[in-house]
Amino acid sequence: MQMIRESKVKTRKPRRCWGCCRVFPAGTEMHVNVTVDQGEAASYYTCATCQEIYAHIWDKFDDGLDEGWTLDEMSYTHEGKTPEEYLQALEDMSDADER
Ligand SMILES: [Zn+2]
Repeated sequence: MQMIRESKVKTRKPRRCWGCCRVFPAGTEMHVNVTVDQGEAASYYTCATCQEIYAHIWDKFDDGLDEGWTLDEMSYTHEGKTPEEYLQALEDMSDADER
């Protein structure tokens, strides 16, 4: 799978986040990645929260992102929590590293 474009958009239709699988209404700012796989273009939307989570843990994803990757990661340590709570925990952890 080849990534050809990444950008930030305001959605015109409700879109499901590739990371947390929540559906966000039209007019939400989301990241979109356009990829080409065997000649077929596809778009993947990521919500602002998952985008920030990704910035913390991108090095876990050498092979790209599977659908629901945020939920997969949360299932180890934050089962049943929201992505926002998970992001907060990641930010607290990186604050602690800097001390
Ligand atoms: Zn998300």
